[in-house]
Amino acid sequence: MPLLSVQNLEVVFPLPGGTVRALRNVSFDLDRGERIGIVGESGAGKSAAAFAILNLLGKPGKIQSGRILFDGHDLAALDYEAMRQIRGNRISMIFQDPMVTLNPVLTIGAQMTETLRAHRRMTRARARDIALEKLRAVQIPSAEKRLAQYPHELSGGMRQRVVIATALLSDPQIIIADEPTTALDVTIQAEILELLLRLCEDFAVGLILITHDLGVVFGVTQRILVMYAGRIIERGPTAEVIGAPRHPYTRGLIDALPSAARPGTPLKQIPGVMPSLHEIPSGCAFHDRCEFAQARCAAETPRLEEQGARAAACHFPL
Ligand code: SF4
Repeated sequence: MPLLSVQNLEVVFPLPGGTVRALRNVSFDLDRGERIGIVGESGAGKSAAAFAILNLLGKPGKIQSGRILFDGHDLAALDYEAMRQIRGNRISMIFQDPMVTLNPVLTIGAQMTETLRAHRRMTRARARDIALEKLRAVQIPSAEKRLAQYPHELSGGMRQRVVIATALLSDPQIIIADEPTTALDVTIQAEILELLLRLCEDFAVGLILITHDLGVVFGVTQRILVMYAGRIIERGPTAEVIGAPRHPYTRGLIDALPSAARPGTPLKQIPGVMPSLHEIPSGCAFHDRCEFAQARCAAETPRLEEQGARAAACHFPL
């Protein structure tokens, strides 16, 4: 049985101008210790999936239907207190900007020990020992000294290490990392991704890595889900999907990677923009951007067709 099973999840935001369908029939599993990537442009629905799992959808967002099974519980049906016990305890989240997560007026030691004591009964001294152990696990130099420092005294990369150490405090079974490296310098990005990979392997933690950058999931995740306009449009083992994508949108994301460009030639871009979730086009939501579109594409929504470990939602897969 998978550790996490998201089944037919529909998330909506009823707004005065109409209902936004942020997630449409999204299903995926995560096994214990498995690492998956959720990839797509801004507005594809990837962050909505993460927030729905943690019951953190901002109002008026709500789960319209579907189930989120985690270790025998349906997270979509839990009340606030029961969900609080799971969030930050058995499922942790890492956000893009460490300065949003860290409290600027508390030392690193104070915020880590308080986070721990909010979930578990223990003395301050014991909490401090665990905080120190996690700071060492994320390879922060002079870990003991960092406990007495404030976030602004650390570099961006070191702050993100503190955020990761904080996410590990309660030995979670899953970490959801939402664009964890986007705010960092390129050189630091690679270090943080390598660190996440090593920690997940060492502690057998499942990872859901959310990113707009396909290059980020390569080498870190075992499987990827590609999202477009609130739906999963392709999924499969990471290396296979990136090596031979079946959906034209995935192909477009790969072609747009800087590593895919020949020296001296401009980067390729997918023409047009992601449709507004207020007005998702009929049929395949990608049809007005797709170079392979035919008449059927605008009329009929393609189903996510399984083929072995792969699946793609396209009438004319590559
Ligand atoms: Fe392109 Fe048609 Fe496939 Fe959509 S269904 S991705 S429009 S070929």
